[in-house]
Amino acid sequence: MNTQFFRFDLGVRSLLPKWRGLLNRQYIRDDLFAGVTVALVAIPLSLAIALASGVEPAVGLVTAIVAGIVCALFGGNPLAVSGPAAAMSILVAMVVARYGMAGLIVVGFVCGALQILTGVFRLGRFVRLMPLPVIEGFTAGIGAIIIIGQLPRALGLPAPDESHIVDVITHIGGLIHESHADAVLIAVGTMLLMWFVPKVSNKLPSPLIAIGAVSILAYYLAGADLALIGSIPRTLPLPTMPNFSDALADSSIFGTALLVYGLASLETLLSSTAVDKLAGARHSDLDQELIGQGLGNMAVSIFGGIPVTGVIVRSATSVVAGAKTRRAPIVHSLVLLAVIFVFAPWISKIPIAALAGLLLFIAARMMNPEKLLNLWRISRSDAIVYGVTFFVIVFVGLLEGVQWGLLAAFAVLALQVGRTQISEFASDHLDPYYFELEGPLTFLSSLKIDQLKSKASDFDPARGVVINMKKMTEIDGTGAEMLFELLEEFNKHGVRVVLKGLKDKERAFLVKADAKGQVANMFSSSERDTLQILRGIVDLASLNRLSKGLQKYLHSKQPKYRELFSKLADGQSPHTLFITCSDSRIQPNLITSTEPGEIFIIRNVGNIVPPFHRGAICSEAAGIDYAVGVLGVREIVVCGHSGCGAMKALHGSDPLPKELHCLAAWRKETLRGDSYHKLPKSIGLDQVAHVNILHQIESLRTHPIIRVREEAGELKLSAWYFDIPTGSVEIWSPETRKYEKQSAHKPVKL
Ligand code: ZN
Repeated sequence: MNTQFFRFDLGVRSLLPKWRGLLNRQYIRDDLFAGVTVALVAIPLSLAIALASGVEPAVGLVTAIVAGIVCALFGGNPLAVSGPAAAMSILVAMVVARYGMAGLIVVGFVCGALQILTGVFRLGRFVRLMPLPVIEGFTAGIGAIIIIGQLPRALGLPAPDESHIVDVITHIGGLIHESHADAVLIAVGTMLLMWFVPKVSNKLPSPLIAIGAVSILAYYLAGADLALIGSIPRTLPLPTMPNFSDALADSSIFGTALLVYGLASLETLLSSTAVDKLAGARHSDLDQELIGQGLGNMAVSIFGGIPVTGVIVRSATSVVAGAKTRRAPIVHSLVLLAVIFVFAPWISKIPIAALAGLLLFIAARMMNPEKLLNLWRISRSDAIVYGVTFFVIVFVGLLEGVQWGLLAAFAVLALQVGRTQISEFASDHLDPYYFELEGPLTFLSSLKIDQLKSKASDFDPARGVVINMKKMTEIDGTGAEMLFELLEEFNKHGVRVVLKGLKDKERAFLVKADAKGQVANMFSSSERDTLQILRGIVDLASLNRLSKGLQKYLHSKQPKYRELFSKLADGQSPHTLFITCSDSRIQPNLITSTEPGEIFIIRNVGNIVPPFHRGAICSEAAGIDYAVGVLGVREIVVCGHSGCGAMKALHGSDPLPKELHCLAAWRKETLRGDSYHKLPKSIGLDQVAHVNILHQIESLRTHPIIRVREEAGELKLSAWYFDIPTGSVEIWSPETRKYEKQSAHKPVKL
């Protein structure tokens, strides 16, 4: 693995050991077999793709030979085979039609140079940022264009003058009666064999078998006027540098090169990922793969070939045939070279209609309508992006298809991200109207906000409106402005509004944006605030609080906890016994973020633990026995708090009201033998609470079961103090012999 950041050596240093490995005898038979198999598949495919790319069939073979060797030597995915690609063919044909063969060579060279730069600067991962539905729509679109484009050949008709899809169809329509029966039979025969051979064995090189069998039959049976590939050269052409001076005359060629670069790189990365999956290998090195492709494309263009990519079908054939190292694609190239040297006269006899049949088969697989149906089932918006890309590519053009596809993808993304949800929850006829706002509040939310705004006059001013904004994910200036307009509208109709659940940052933002300075009075963080804002009084009981809370629970919490409760139905195994005061302001589950089933709670006035010798028959002692002895909790927390009424009763000097006999008895009993009254009167009640917690920990230790478990290291006793004004928690540290205030750990950003 190359660990340096930029690869100015083109990755050669890390490739050296792999090149030495090429001479290793291990796996040599596997690689030879796989290389020959791939070559057998590559011959017909390269010829056919060259045909679809608008160049001489022989160019396809030269391209496959050169790319096979160079890309294999320098690539980052040892098992990938590179060569002419069906997905590129339409774009290549477009370049050839517009700039000629010389222009295509410049395009290939520039594309290669850009790929090398991408790899050297390790930008390969950005190539992958293309949305999948655009890629799939693109592939299907190419498939459709290939099908339409090859139909005249499959029907044995002369090629149309124009390549636009409508022209081609008109052309076919005009000449259909002149269809060549031999050509149709050959094309259909090729397709049938392509479909049938893999059913016999997927290790057979079906394209070779199909093309070979059909060609032999055609040679003996078909008429003399059947179009054939014609003579192909038996050697590689001499390398020549691309001619840039002509190309510079039309600078639009560089834009085209950029497009070829983008598509070729994307195809390569897709194929590389597919090969990884197939080979079960770890992820290949995408940046190195692009360097290999770049060098391959430059070399190919010097030999007059067409731009290449990593190709999925040939790579897959190689892997299935047992390829183990980068030797397999090199063998494939050498076999191709030998084949054109020895079999060129035979290859020249292949009917064009057979290659057209092969292309029709490949293109039909690229269209893959099942994929669209699947996409439609999973995500309508993805299917729309796919559809836009597909239709624009087929009826307008490649570049436009990608542009419109991307545009559609971004529009869908913006709509999804920008979807604001406002839901109204039923409330009693006297309670405030209750709304929840979910998602971002931005310029995209205006429809939803306007909907609510238009209803402002329907609300009963006596009830008021609560908008819970806890689930708002984002707010921008436009969103804030829309919210103010909404509030203004409510204000006009005399309806008071409460904004609940806003985070500090969002509040600050709204206050800053609010020119009228009114919004700050609408923020609520509790039911108390809400009541204060709506009624000007605090009387929580009047809010019918419990039934509303129950509704909220049934609505949002119960469904989430359904699975948990069904598991807990079998029994409980809490990890902690939590002993705390009955005070309403202490919420054990809130401050420990625990769920049902986690903590066993004993609550009483003053979080008192009766010592063993005195309290053996009380409920607290029974609870302790059960939690420790039966449930096997591993920790006991005694949690006291600030402003505790029980501490006041025990330590203070105020007499208790006469009629409260039970409270007086409790005080007398708790004080018996305890030493609260011995504490100096000058210390504050909160200090008494701190001492009291430790005192209760000592009481816990008088229980034999606790003493035994603690000494065995099976039970931990903790003293917690909850400070109400700040909501913070202090925990007693036996080491420092102090209460230590707990603070939140800062999350580490990845
Ligand atoms: Zn208390």
